[in-house]
Amino acid sequence: GREWHLVSRPVGFPQPSDFALVEAEVRQPGPGEVLVRNAYASVDPYMRGRMSDAKSYVAPFELGKTMQGGAVGEVIASNAEGIEAGDHVLHFLGWREYAVVDAKQAVKVDPEAAPLSTYLGVLGMTGLTAYAGLLRTASFKEGDSVFVSGAAGAVGSQVGQIARLKGASRVIGSAGSDEKVKLLLEEYGFDAAFNYKNGPVSQQLRDAAPDGVDVYFDNVGGDHLEAAIGSLNRDGRIAVCGMISVYNNTEAAPGPRNLARLIQTRGRIQGFLVGDHYDLQQEFVQEVGAWIRSGELKYTETVVEGIENNLEAFFGVLRGDNIGKMIVKL
Ligand code: NDP
Repeated sequence: GREWHLVSRPVGFPQPSDFALVEAEVRQPGPGEVLVRNAYASVDPYMRGRMSDAKSYVAPFELGKTMQGGAVGEVIASNAEGIEAGDHVLHFLGWREYAVVDAKQAVKVDPEAAPLSTYLGVLGMTGLTAYAGLLRTASFKEGDSVFVSGAAGAVGSQVGQIARLKGASRVIGSAGSDEKVKLLLEEYGFDAAFNYKNGPVSQQLRDAAPDGVDVYFDNVGGDHLEAAIGSLNRDGRIAVCGMISVYNNTEAAPGPRNLARLIQTRGRIQGFLVGDHYDLQQEFVQEVGAWIRSGELKYTETVVEGIENNLEAFFGVLRGDNIGKMIVKL
């Protein structure tokens, strides 16, 4: 089976030469292990962080070794109790066609209950990120006006829709193309949306949210964060989910210049990691699953085919090629 190795640590935007697609022998599962033929693999912005060796909340990818990431597939051989050949599992050994997985690190998923790819997106890690970040970290409550950046992406498109379904007074989104803005308004039910490439974010946000914002869900950082602080209402809350605008920076970017506004607004900024919120998983799947079945919550996937295109799919997430969750079909 083929797998992707990291061969050098990228500086700035990653280059194809930082990676290698390698043919590896498929070994049989040892005690407590299962062999999985991966069907779908996830590519996510946080993987950029793992390509650098700076200390973070997940260990860096090792040079010369296979990269990792969320994946779902069919078990083709099992040497573990409770999992049989033919079962489908979610696990953490993506970036490869075949994976030998410790059964303790694999979660059985039901392809009848929902399409397999959704366990990586709308019902998976990115979905829970949206749910926990909005409802818990940002303490969203009915009547709040909510602004989300990266709004046409996996996390952002779900944040906006959950806010709408839970009674937000206004949902505002920003994204990087006019096509994405149209989708936010026409498909996902945002009240207002703008293309951040069309003009200063602060002015566009003021126009889109004339009464200010109570919650800002930050996927982007940079001038988006400063703009949100500028439009923050009294007792406003900012959940820092990600800051994709700085992931490829080689020097630290300056912070928001208007932090003093937090004093008059009594505003709060708080970061969070989805990994701390898996206690919400069941509630999340129940609530969001029902909205998907009723058609009230829509989701999009951008599917790229083939292990040979796994890397391009990852670059695509950093460039903004995706609408909704970027998925690799293996
Ligand atoms: P997305 O599906 O949103 O894909 C990333 C998007 O970021 C692109 O489609 C692109 O859309 C946008 N983007 C890229 N560069 C820039 C830029 N310079 N300025 C503004 N937007 C940019 O990815 P996810 O939904 O998976 O992740 C969204 C965010 O959530 C990321 O910051 C990620 O790191 C974070 N995250 C955090 C987690 C946590 O536990 N805290 C868990 C999961 C994700 P566009 O065309 O609009 O530019």
